[in-house]
Amino acid sequence: MAKKTIENLDTAAILGRRALVRVDFNVPVKDGKVSDDTRIRAAVPTIEDLKDRGARIILLSHLGRPKGGGPEPKYSLKPVVPVLESLLGMPVAFIEDPAAPTAVEATRELPRGAVALVENTRFQAGEEKNDPATARMFAALGDFFVNDAFGSAHRAHASTEAVAHLLKPAVAGLLMEKELGYLGGLLTSPARPFVAILGGAKISGKIDVIQNLLPRVDRILIGGAMANTFFRAKGAATGTSLVEDDRIAMAKDLLARAGDKLVLPGGGVAAPSLERAQERRDVAWNAIPDGWALYDIDAATATRFAEIVAGAKTVVWNGPMGVFETPPFDQGTLAMARALAAATAKGATTVVGGGDSAAAIEQAKLADKVSHVSTGGGASLEFLEGKVLPGVAALDDA
Ligand code: ADP
Ligand code: MG
Repeated sequence: MAKKTIENLDTAAILGRRALVRVDFNVPVKDGKVSDDTRIRAAVPTIEDLKDRGARIILLSHLGRPKGGGPEPKYSLKPVVPVLESLLGMPVAFIEDPAAPTAVEATRELPRGAVALVENTRFQAGEEKNDPATARMFAALGDFFVNDAFGSAHRAHASTEAVAHLLKPAVAGLLMEKELGYLGGLLTSPARPFVAILGGAKISGKIDVIQNLLPRVDRILIGGAMANTFFRAKGAATGTSLVEDDRIAMAKDLLARAGDKLVLPGGGVAAPSLERAQERRDVAWNAIPDGWALYDIDAATATRFAEIVAGAKTVVWNGPMGVFETPPFDQGTLAMARALAAATAKGATTVVGGGDSAAAIEQAKLADKVSHVSTGGGASLEFLEGKVLPGVAALDDA
């Protein structure tokens, strides 16, 4: 079911009203400074749109994992204020304690087009419990609700779920709309051929994605450590490679059911350890030397995968092909990033989901050469698993 967005609200519904906007400002902070402002920049289009239409904007976000029993300075959202001020080119007010009576007053005194940021929602004990009283406290800060925090939509928290039932209209922001459009399109109406590339550390974390995508895709290309568990399922020895022994039976079952939809690497880059990379060599999947591990797909596999991607009209990529954080084991992952960029240039719709995969495409400097890089790691995974995201479900239907 499609959700109502801020684009569906006419200006009369916005002008002069207090927009309570849940954003995802869960950014890394080092020495009191934001070290990566990607998520803040991602929320700017929604803030600008509401600002241009005369709303008074109150922003809610969580940051990190505080205990939830009150303020903890290292998880304060204060370092976000100067970053937001420079991105918006205007001052941003800070509401330290949303539960204080002065907080509601502060939002009422906010001029049209002005912006206030509320301190970390997780300083409230009721936030992660989706507590109704906490949600009422947040709801008192606005006249209508906008959820632009796709990355938090898989959690039913007071500021993502309960509050959406209390403030109406409750609509999606532009970033949320974009995420739902691209990810939803994969599941409902993908142009074919539709190819999924799945990798990363563990098959256990991705099994539900494989299950949900299998009937929808034309091919699933498997890389990363996940492939090792499949190699074991096919009877190979995998040395010291990362394998989930308790998932070998499951991998066997998948291989039996998937037929030729599931494409495994023909080989990988093996080494005695990550530190002894200079001894690395390409080996076949069933010839991994004793005491060695696979840390990447081999060049021949990368080429074969890239050829399949080149013929696709829709591509989704989740999970690196190797230990991309440790060159030279980044080559397979970089090759996939280039393959996605090339397919995009030829008109394919390409979507990258998952925190490490997003980092990898950034590392390859190709993030702007694919159709969409999801800002929500866990949320995009749950979406691809076919799960209902509570923060989305609670929004008004279009
Ligand atoms: P994402 O965040 O994109 O969903 P994951 O968290 O599932 O991806 O997996 C990313 C991790 O998988 C990376 O830290 C990477 O080093 C690891 N990885 C990939 N291939 C291998 C491998 N062959 N051996 C060990 N770790 C691997
Ligand atoms: Mg990850």
